[in-house]
Amino acid sequence: MCSIIGILSKDIVAPALVESLKRMEYRGYDSVGIATLSTNKISVRKGIGKVGQVNSSLNLAGMEGFVGIGHTRWATHGGVTEYNAHPHSCCTNNIAVVHNGIIENYLSLKEELVKKGHIFRSETDSEVIAHLLEEYYNTGKDIKRAMMETVNQLEGSYAFVAMFANGTLSCARLDEPLVIGISDNTYYASSDVLGFLQYTDQAIFLDNRDMAIIDKAGVSIVNFSGEPGTRSITKVAWELADANKGEFAHYTIKEIFEQRISVKAATYQDEHKIKTFCDSIVSANNILVTGSGSSYHTSLIISMMGSRFLKKRFEPVMASEFQYNMDSIDKDTVIMAISQSGETADVLSATKLAREAGAKILSIVNVQTSSLARTADVSLSIKSGPEIGVAATKSFTGQVSLAYAILDRISGGKIGFDREVISDKISKMLAQQESIERLVNITMPKVNDIYLLGRSIHFPIALEGALKMKELAYVHAEGIAAGELKHGPLALMDKNAVVFVLNPDDRTYSDMLSSAYQVKARGAKIIGISNVPNDIYDAMIEIPKIDNDLLYPLIEIIPLQLFSYYLALQNNANPDFPRNLAKSVTVR
Ligand code: GLU
Repeated sequence: MCSIIGILSKDIVAPALVESLKRMEYRGYDSVGIATLSTNKISVRKGIGKVGQVNSSLNLAGMEGFVGIGHTRWATHGGVTEYNAHPHSCCTNNIAVVHNGIIENYLSLKEELVKKGHIFRSETDSEVIAHLLEEYYNTGKDIKRAMMETVNQLEGSYAFVAMFANGTLSCARLDEPLVIGISDNTYYASSDVLGFLQYTDQAIFLDNRDMAIIDKAGVSIVNFSGEPGTRSITKVAWELADANKGEFAHYTIKEIFEQRISVKAATYQDEHKIKTFCDSIVSANNILVTGSGSSYHTSLIISMMGSRFLKKRFEPVMASEFQYNMDSIDKDTVIMAISQSGETADVLSATKLAREAGAKILSIVNVQTSSLARTADVSLSIKSGPEIGVAATKSFTGQVSLAYAILDRISGGKIGFDREVISDKISKMLAQQESIERLVNITMPKVNDIYLLGRSIHFPIALEGALKMKELAYVHAEGIAAGELKHGPLALMDKNAVVFVLNPDDRTYSDMLSSAYQVKARGAKIIGISNVPNDIYDAMIEIPKIDNDLLYPLIEIIPLQLFSYYLALQNNANPDFPRNLAKSVTVR
């Protein structure tokens, strides 16, 4: 969970390395480092903090050289220290490496390398890559061979870029993303197209077990056994402008506002693809829906709506729990795998296991060129554009919107999904931005516990709202199926609790109201999210009335996102980059 970038160019590379790392900082960001090659010598500068801070103190962008590598780290092995920051160099300092992922067998490899005389300077798993490459490179001075020997020793998941003192870059990937960018006079190896999209839209997406060797003569791609492969060049469609904040203070609020458009964009699909997707669901006996975090909440909505309107059993499974729920999977099973990035390690591993058991994989992603999109039998993209804020906002509503459209199509219109209505109601909800900000300021000082109550299709929104409060504002928040209150959580309610009640006037309305009374009787403060005012609410966020009440989940999440955003600001948290979290969770 971090970003890696390597650049080989006719121009000085350090400014572009810094710029690329800034654009990919959403992936992980506890420390930063760059290595460049100048006059046949590798120099490394690295430090703790964000790219901007480390660049200001160490002048990363001022480093010399036409070849370089860079890294933002999200520590998995070894504390957040300058020594553990990447790049890591080998003993002779003629190879430096940046790595994303986890080397599971690093302890035994390290032990062997130490016995052979290698000296380690960090506690990371990553450093073994530099020393292994050194071990094999020094014997034959053959980079391809050294890479093959090295990757065949490594267990775990990784993408890495190595820079050699002869001016060559080499890189490899196994279950972590890595993409090559090509422009007239420059080559890039990057975790994400955002690392080079400002310079070129020509990309080669490496397959799993691919490695690439990049030098002045060009890029050559071989698999881990050394067999050459040809990979086509893809023109990457997203406009770079999309990755800027525009007039907004943060990406998160920008992306919340983009939902007016993105809920619609998600539903424009290629006719042939969506038909194949839907046909696979219709012909399946057993449907499992999986995802992590917000995508798991989408899975819950899909499962509830699918079972109700298609009269078929849909089972939601958290991607991290998937491996323990394999027993019913066979060739008549369809897996719907949901992931914004399409690189979520838990989701990729779930689909891999399911495929081995014979299942068909359907995926819903945002990034169409991602591993999940490429390995699925059919993949649909929600086409939300880059989502930089670490907390999912527009990708969540994009997924739900597309899911509604799919289920509506299969059920012959029983859901009555209408993208224009949704977009219009979201705009109305967004227009309450200022009153929600005021509400945060009035109700929230000194609140430690927030509960969100919902029933039926509002329950996944209660979970999603709680997730936003936790990750954006660092406040303890719990989504609760309201009927469960009396089975335990009611014991927690007192005058210090703030309780959101998701209560539009649908078939859950009166039961929700009685849950609200139970909570109120214990002294909790109640914020109603409803289209019907009621005296029980200490405060109310009014949502617009929708004739088709099945669509409320897509509307009621908006005030919860806005509330979490303003609560984050009040708590002095950076909403775009929550502590300890990374956007694309590429480790398991
Ligand atoms: N496992 C490596 C470390 O802890 C890389 C983590 C990452 O992907 O940022 O340094």
